[in-house]
Amino acid sequence: MASVARLVKLGRCRNVVVVAGAGISTASGIPDFRTPGTGLYANLEQYKLPYPEAVFSIDYFSDDPLPFFSLAKALYPGHHRPNYIHYFVRMLHHKGLLLRVYTQNIDGLERLCGIPEDKLVEAHGSFRTASCHLCYTSYPAAEAQAAIMSDQVPVCSFCAATVKPDVVFFGEDLPQKYFLHAEDFPKADLLIIMGTSLQIEPFASLVNTVRSTVPRLLLNRHAVGPFQRVPLRRGDHMELGDLEVTVRRLAQMLGWSGEIEELMSTQETQRRPGSRSGRMLASPGVSGRGGSSPPPLKTGHSEEEKKEAA
Ligand SMILES: [Zn+2]
Repeated sequence: MASVARLVKLGRCRNVVVVAGAGISTASGIPDFRTPGTGLYANLEQYKLPYPEAVFSIDYFSDDPLPFFSLAKALYPGHHRPNYIHYFVRMLHHKGLLLRVYTQNIDGLERLCGIPEDKLVEAHGSFRTASCHLCYTSYPAAEAQAAIMSDQVPVCSFCAATVKPDVVFFGEDLPQKYFLHAEDFPKADLLIIMGTSLQIEPFASLVNTVRSTVPRLLLNRHAVGPFQRVPLRRGDHMELGDLEVTVRRLAQMLGWSGEIEELMSTQETQRRPGSRSGRMLASPGVSGRGGSSPPPLKTGHSEEEKKEAA
């Protein structure tokens, strides 16, 4: 990691691509919801799903949207705040080094921490927009959220099929913006991979599309994807362990610690939960985390964090 920090300080990395997964949000208290056993799925038992991941199957949704809506009530952004890792990525942008961040997360925390739209690819979609799952006619996201929160099913004004937030389900196409990767990855001069298992395609293969001389830095709890191979490819580096701790160390090596702390405290004080983001989500009901109070901004290391994508 030190050698990558050195390259950045030398000005050799000006087109950094970041690939991020669930592990960057565990420090914000968000479990990897695609993994059964994280608590979120316990609420779904009443629906007798054939298998837990069916909740993200578009065919199943078409048949019965209620299990997903039940889960969505807990997943809608508003309960959580970005953490240090998100602000590290924002600092990459602030320094003019970020080409793009590709996130697999649907929690919206990259956007919340201030990474601008044109730097962000939410590859698995988000709750920010909604549309008909059948004819794709768009639907006001706030109305969809209000309906789902009050246990109603939003329906398409055009074809009367069920409306869903534009979160990408298994069996659905990725957003158009994802295809920016065809330009971005060949152009990258540093790839940082954070908090992802690299098990879900197309992300798993994507990291192999940077030029072979480009350094790749994996920050994760475990070695994943091409980083499991011994010896590592020349130019590959990995730093294993608690992601937030690792990212703090990297920031220190870069001399950015003070600036990130400052940015984070300014931003997080401005956006006190309860005023804007907390309001629509007063009663998650099914979250299992109970109550409507947002978690503290600075989190410790919960048990959930330990379940970071392996
Ligand atoms: Zn429709």
